[in-house]
Amino acid sequence: MRKISIIGSGAMGCRIGSQLSQAGYSVTLIDTWEDHVQAIREKGLEVQTETDTYSIDIPVTTPNEVNESFDLAIVLTKSMQSEEVVRKLYDKGAITHHTAVLSMMNGLGHDERLSKIVPHEQIFLAVTMWTAGLRGPGKVLLEGIGSIELQRADGQTDERTERIAQMLNDAQLNAKVSDDIFRSIWSKATLNSVLNPLCTIFDKTIYEFSQNPIASKLVHPLVAEIVQVATSRGVHLDQQELIQKIENAYPKEAQGLHYPSMHQDLYNGRYTEIDYLNGQISKYGDEADIDTPYNDTLTFLIHQYEFVHIEEQS
Ligand code: NAD
Repeated sequence: MRKISIIGSGAMGCRIGSQLSQAGYSVTLIDTWEDHVQAIREKGLEVQTETDTYSIDIPVTTPNEVNESFDLAIVLTKSMQSEEVVRKLYDKGAITHHTAVLSMMNGLGHDERLSKIVPHEQIFLAVTMWTAGLRGPGKVLLEGIGSIELQRADGQTDERTERIAQMLNDAQLNAKVSDDIFRSIWSKATLNSVLNPLCTIFDKTIYEFSQNPIASKLVHPLVAEIVQVATSRGVHLDQQELIQKIENAYPKEAQGLHYPSMHQDLYNGRYTEIDYLNGQISKYGDEADIDTPYNDTLTFLIHQYEFVHIEEQS
């Protein structure tokens, strides 16, 4: 696997892309944001860490301009942006029947959407605990530590899985091959489906939300619904363990002082990934004849917030 593309080179795409590039791999960033692409072309990607700020030269292009094919395509747009651009890059021959397509996005159902474009055996799924932020066009902030788990979407072993994990480890990204990636995806999606919409609707940090007496009255039934829907799809989650993980995020010394990403997206006028979290859980619930009133309500409310904060402002 020689040539890697990062499809969607925002905060996380720049983290993964810059670290792979610094490990000596041939990486091309792909993004539609003209100012960002222009800034990276002119000045390189500015990387700020806890201890250092430096610039790296890294090829960057827009989907329209791509004129080569890749062995590995790591998808890191927001969930709602991925299908269209992956299809476009497939139609242009940048993704071929040899390309391993690795989704590292949050949310559920990415394998199903990608399998409309490339066969299942080309799709790999990852969950990452790394974080990243953008400080403006061409400037990424990389703090903290994290990890990545990955597996081929159809669960089959494939030498490419080991190879991708090796490349990510060469890039100090702390990767391992999972033997149950769907459990990890659903676990992270549960945390995101609880803290993201609730902190957004309440307009609270995670710690502030936890101090509301109603918090556990919302969190417990929400997690119960998600566990039931996951079970209907053959994914077995531990309800108590998930509630504990959510509560572990509450203290100020943990993630308590942060607003979740959905809050940041919404209050910065960007659409959220709600349809790939609670919205997707509601859809799966419908398919399995399971009522999901908590997930339905949160999805509805976040869409109302999007209407007020984005559509009415434009
Ligand atoms: P981001 O908004 O910073 O980056 C997404 C990038 O995709 C943007 O630069 C945007 O211009 C680009 N884009 C949009 N449409 C495109 C298109 N059609 N073609 C090419 N590029 C396009 O978002 P992010 O925070 O990097 O998140 C990406 C994914 O990673 C999300 O699923 C998110 O939930 C997940 N994630 C983020 C973090 C984090 O700390 N930022 C951590 C874990 C997981």
